[in-house]
Amino acid sequence: MRKVFIYFFAFLFICFFLPALLTKSNMQTSSETDDGIVEIKEEHSESEYIYNQYGTIKLLHTDTNTVEEVALDNYLCNVVSAEMPVDFEKEALKAQAIVARTYTIYKVNNKKHENADVCDDSTCCQAWISKEDRLARWDGDKEAKWSKIEECVNETKGKIITYNNQPINAFFHSNSGGKTELPVDVWGGGSNMPYLQVVETSGEDAYSQYNSEVELTNEELLEKLKAKYTDIQIDFNNDDDIKILEYTSSGRVKTIKFGNHEISGTEARNIFGLRATNFDISKNEGKIKFTVKGYGHGVGMSQTGADSMAKSGSTAEDIIQHFYVGVEIKEVNSL
Ligand SMILES: [Zn+2]
Repeated sequence: MRKVFIYFFAFLFICFFLPALLTKSNMQTSSETDDGIVEIKEEHSESEYIYNQYGTIKLLHTDTNTVEEVALDNYLCNVVSAEMPVDFEKEALKAQAIVARTYTIYKVNNKKHENADVCDDSTCCQAWISKEDRLARWDGDKEAKWSKIEECVNETKGKIITYNNQPINAFFHSNSGGKTELPVDVWGGGSNMPYLQVVETSGEDAYSQYNSEVELTNEELLEKLKAKYTDIQIDFNNDDDIKILEYTSSGRVKTIKFGNHEISGTEARNIFGLRATNFDISKNEGKIKFTVKGYGHGVGMSQTGADSMAKSGSTAEDIIQHFYVGVEIKEVNSL
């Protein structure tokens, strides 16, 4: 007889309670509009987004030369927390999350590494820091800071930037100095990336990355150039021997003359360790001073520009539409 009761309750459970439990995560709510029509809305929790593909990616740890398979959005928390200060506005961090997701998926489809999709080196792919190391380097309420990063990644789950329905090559940098740069003036090429244009952003001068200087003695300058150009000769008494010859359309140095050599602004940036190619030169008592505006190559989204826009009320989508011209933000599963 007891067995019958057990079967009866098991039957009840399967028919009524189990379906109720399973549908709980997909709740429906209804609201009545002014004209009395009841609208039914489905509420999906954000954690429900399941990637059709790209859900896991292969990450190369450059220090140990090992490849780790990681969940995309977990990986993005490590990237966003390595690439952008956590005290930046949430909408700027969300823009960074979308940019980092797009950049990652672009790299999956355009592989640089043989056995991995991306590596953890910021000069090659994107910066990455383990949660443990990140928390160790933060002050204050570390867990709250990590939660803020996780929220920004979760609230943008599945979102990527597309142009012609394809993930874009979402370049970004620290500070544009007020104006972004064309890829052709940094690396050459880039005509297949019409979404990367020169755009202006206000408010970047409020950040410490905006202004910097590098001062070298004439001898130091010559030494640095000699490493690359062994036959370099400069007459420091001749004003025409060190001279900016040409600017890019964004106002950065395109070509600069050092004695018997003409080099690109990007090359000068590398040789002298300048933060950007947006610089002026002044000569004074045996020294050369580079006064630099901005930080980074200048192409795509400026991170400080993103934060500055967010402070004035822009959303992550506004920020992305500003820095990448003519793009759309789409769910990656819809491609
Ligand atoms: Zn790499």
